[in-house]
Amino acid sequence: MPDSLPLVFGAPRRSKPPRHFADLDDSGRAAAVAGLGLPAFRAKQLANQYYGRFTADPRQMTDLPAAVRDQVSEALFPDLLTAVREIETDAGETRKLLWRAVDGTSFESVLMRYADRNTVCISSQAGCGMACPFCATGQGGLQRNLSTAEILEQVRAAAVELRDRDGDGIAPAARGGRLSNIVFMGMGEPLANYNRVIAAVRRIIAPPPDGFGISARSVTVSTVGLAPAIRKLADERLNVTLALSLHAPDDELRDTLVPVNNRWKVSEALDAARHYADVTGRRVSIEYALIRDVNDQPWRAELLGKRLHGALGPLAHVNVIPLNPTPGSEWDASPKPTEREFVRRVRECGVSCTVRDTRGREIAAACGQLAAEG
Ligand code: SAH
Repeated sequence: MPDSLPLVFGAPRRSKPPRHFADLDDSGRAAAVAGLGLPAFRAKQLANQYYGRFTADPRQMTDLPAAVRDQVSEALFPDLLTAVREIETDAGETRKLLWRAVDGTSFESVLMRYADRNTVCISSQAGCGMACPFCATGQGGLQRNLSTAEILEQVRAAAVELRDRDGDGIAPAARGGRLSNIVFMGMGEPLANYNRVIAAVRRIIAPPPDGFGISARSVTVSTVGLAPAIRKLADERLNVTLALSLHAPDDELRDTLVPVNNRWKVSEALDAARHYADVTGRRVSIEYALIRDVNDQPWRAELLGKRLHGALGPLAHVNVIPLNPTPGSEWDASPKPTEREFVRRVRECGVSCTVRDTRGREIAAACGQLAAEG
């Protein structure tokens, strides 16, 4: 049967993405370069190009002998991601990219420029298996895990974009920007793709030539609360910022809002977060999508404040996210007075609490809106 048949008749085949330079750690790079019959120093040269200069096309690597560029390109730098759609808002300050992988899988990332930082929100999986009913990504299920290189390519693309962009409307002084922050808050549950995500994080925070050299505290890994994986992450001592998507302080409601709560209860997620804070000394960010008449009651604000104060003390910070609309959902954000009262009550318990902005809402690029619809 011809190879192309499944592509003609069915959904695109989901296959393992081809091996890419960014999948490899230091020793993997050395082995790959040796495998191509190249001298060992080429490994460092390639890493410098990729992580230091954001170049993923050997044909542009002028320090590489012209005769080997094609070979290196074919063996180590396949085109993993194609940007198939770009959409922007906030006068170009917020930009969503739809990516297509080699096997046809699609996912999104969002670049956000602020006065004091540039943040890229990246995906760790195509789709998500966590099935939170208020999140657009959760409705489509999981397609597959992204490879380490597919994760890092989103980062590299953002860094290139910030460095090179001279597009309309961007003042010259604002060009030549640097990528400062990375949040694993795009599609997917990062801790459900643990090994690949950790490998990506290592290379994000390692100084060049081994990585992009972004400060660990500026990298946020956000999770629904896979307690054992949170503990494991703490023990990796990477010292990235942890965000825990809590959304309810009580098991009864959280069982429905975050289905994985049926496996790891609020107390287990908070104990793991406490372990994270203890080991890293870092404040844990508690995400709370505020949903009108669902989780926004004053008594829940108080219960949230009390539980967090007990579990994390000064190391808790609550991020209230006004619910972003998603297709087919009847839920809404809470009215502003309800939101203010919620924040006030949490703070009254001695827990810091702020409201997150809703960047990208108009282009379905805000929290929970990524669905990768072409
Ligand atoms: N799976 C991880 C990473 C996704 S981060 C996690 O859940 O933490 C995306 C964040 O946006 C999570 O905190 C998620 O709960 C939140 N979110 C999902 N849907 C949302 C919506 N409709 N409005 C506001 N926030 C939402």
